[in-house]
Amino acid sequence: MVSCVIAACSAVGGPSDVAQGTQSAAARCGQKFPDPNTSQYLLPFPAGRSYTMFQGNCPPDPRWGHNGWLAYDFDLAIGDSVLASREGLATYVEQRWPNSDRVCGHENSVWITHDDRTVMAYLHLTTNGARVRVGDRVSAGTLLGLSGDSGCSSGPHLHVGLFKDATNFDKESSRPLNFRNADGPLAANNALVQGARYAARTP
Ligand SMILES: [Zn+2]
Repeated sequence: MVSCVIAACSAVGGPSDVAQGTQSAAARCGQKFPDPNTSQYLLPFPAGRSYTMFQGNCPPDPRWGHNGWLAYDFDLAIGDSVLASREGLATYVEQRWPNSDRVCGHENSVWITHDDRTVMAYLHLTTNGARVRVGDRVSAGTLLGLSGDSGCSSGPHLHVGLFKDATNFDKESSRPLNFRNADGPLAANNALVQGARYAARTP
């Protein structure tokens, strides 16, 4: 099973403080997600492409990397295009790490801060795979980089996660996310369904 652990990402993505969250994991993981039709987010890959979302929000097995986290893993291959889901500012870029070294903290990544201060992380990009620099303003659909297999990963994929702000990048700060151009099934709470395939419609 391909897996992904992002606990180590606080070390590369920004400040790592003690969790301040007050919401329980059950409340966080079971909450109703926003209506996807009004979502500000696009799937992080080009229109016409489809990928399987093989690890979703809060799998109950603690051996899975997203246990307690709101996040998605899509099965992009090394070199596949990763697009910005929403406009914002590139506030962190890392691309020096090799693929497949399996070392937590070695996630090549691009982090985009949106105008409402939420932050979206795009993780496990390939070596020298970033296509934006810190300070770049991006639009939804801008090419951020090329997917890969860096850091805490057991196979090529793209991890995306949304955070409340740049204060903490921990489980408690992870936020529900869905996509207005996703063609695929939704759970009763509007979350994407682990194991399902999602196609990106032209936005
Ligand atoms: Zn992941």
